[in-house]
Amino acid sequence: MKRFFFLLITVGSFLQSTAQPSKSLPRPKLVVGLVVDQMRWDYLYRYYDRYESGGFRRLLNEGFSCENTYINYVPTVTAIGHASIYTGSVPAIHGIAGNDFIIQATGKSMYCTADSTVSAVGSNTEWGKMSPRNLLVSTITDELKLATNFRSKTIGISLKDRGAILAAGHLANAAYWLDDKTGDWISSTFYMSELPTWLKQFNSEKRTAKYLEQDWNTLYPLNTYKQSWEDNSQFESKFKGQETPVFPIKLASYVAQHGYNLIRYTPFGNTLTLDLAKVIIDKEQMGQRGETDFLAVSLSSTDYIGHHFSPNAIETEDAYLRLDKDLASFLTYLDKKLGKGSYTLFLSADHGGAHNPRFLMEKKMSAGLWPTNQLRTELNQLLEQRFGKKGLVQSFSSYQIHFNNPLLHAENIDMAALKDTCIRFLEQQEGVAMVIDFENINRRAIPEALKIMMANGYNRARTGSLQILLHPAWYGSSNPKATGTSHGVWNPYDAHIPLIWLGWGIQKGKSHQQVSITDIAPTLASLLHIQVPNGTVGKAIPEVLK
Ligand code: ZN
Ligand code: ZN
Repeated sequence: MKRFFFLLITVGSFLQSTAQPSKSLPRPKLVVGLVVDQMRWDYLYRYYDRYESGGFRRLLNEGFSCENTYINYVPTVTAIGHASIYTGSVPAIHGIAGNDFIIQATGKSMYCTADSTVSAVGSNTEWGKMSPRNLLVSTITDELKLATNFRSKTIGISLKDRGAILAAGHLANAAYWLDDKTGDWISSTFYMSELPTWLKQFNSEKRTAKYLEQDWNTLYPLNTYKQSWEDNSQFESKFKGQETPVFPIKLASYVAQHGYNLIRYTPFGNTLTLDLAKVIIDKEQMGQRGETDFLAVSLSSTDYIGHHFSPNAIETEDAYLRLDKDLASFLTYLDKKLGKGSYTLFLSADHGGAHNPRFLMEKKMSAGLWPTNQLRTELNQLLEQRFGKKGLVQSFSSYQIHFNNPLLHAENIDMAALKDTCIRFLEQQEGVAMVIDFENINRRAIPEALKIMMANGYNRARTGSLQILLHPAWYGSSNPKATGTSHGVWNPYDAHIPLIWLGWGIQKGKSHQQVSITDIAPTLASLLHIQVPNGTVGKAIPEVLK
């Protein structure tokens, strides 16, 4: 018996050495990108005591954490965050200048991933008219496809179309997102003509509807949530039909008014997304085909929950504790399916989020609400008196002044005088730190860090002309009783994001060196030995890599 085994081993090693005379380039089986929408860096530690060993704690203990990762542009919003993570670039170059932006030449508003030339696959609604057409550069996922002559599979998923599409890039096998009308996962004709059979099967299970049949209750007794204000807070939003924003949240009774959109505002939206991620890995054989594949997952529910309830709410605390459990289950799945250490995963965020300004004011912090609509109306009235035309300012979106450029050109209005009038008016308003002319950033005394963020965020064709910088902890809202929160500005609560790496090719440890959101893609390129995306301005982070 012993001799038989000896023979087997000898023959086995002989076969191995002759069958593979030269080793192929070592790469991970799969790269998984996890973007947690609106996850502030401090949430890693704010809720640390209650995270379990297999989720965020595992990432921190077994992986490499870049503790000081900052967004290096404004505005800090979802579309730009995803585009910048996956391209290593900034709005000035990659062209994604906002979730919505204004084509400056025409004044036409454009949704970041809108594409009227394509249609939905998997439903017949407007939700499918999406593609990466507005993204002007390649993504790391595109570069992986090019580097392997298209043998790698790359797929992006997110409840939000933009979270899936901008990560998956132009050459993706697929991007899937949720259609609120049907509760199904869909794609667009940009990628395919029909959904794969396994996804039709997944949709037929009606998981969206099933998740909404249950109540959202806290994982632990309410009085043990020490990181949040009281359950019934005046700073939280309510669902239609809900009297007070308290647990249990009886989802089934709000579905009629909210539709399947409601799942976005619950932790189950993230669970559903990770359910799909597991099915994709299984059915598409991701990382199991002898090529490096890439699955880009964006978890959007944390953003909707943050907007609705704000960072200091039990709902947010509970959402992260639930995400931690979902994350642990997902990592265990990856270990089982592909083998621990054979895949590379990174977790980051597209932006953070502010505390509710009314809450901060109540606590005597310096904060405020900026009455956006009222001030735009007043400014337009002033400009009409001076320049004789109505509606010269089209929009204040993203804290930028977007002029009605076609009208300005047609009427030959003096641009310098117009900008000057706007700056003087706005800088007299409470809450305004300064108003910057993008074309003349160097003429003002501005901290260098802010100058860089504004220049990076300024896309000549798609960004407004002037940038309004409010005092920290102020944000624009025309509702004096604003609930929940928002994001979009330069301040650390919006710009400081987590960045943790785990698995194949990754060192164990942490660094306090400041790095940028745009360093993620070049670090991946270095890890994979592939070309950096064609608009990258970031730099690889050497400490992360073995
Ligand atoms: Zn976001
Ligand atoms: Zn958001």
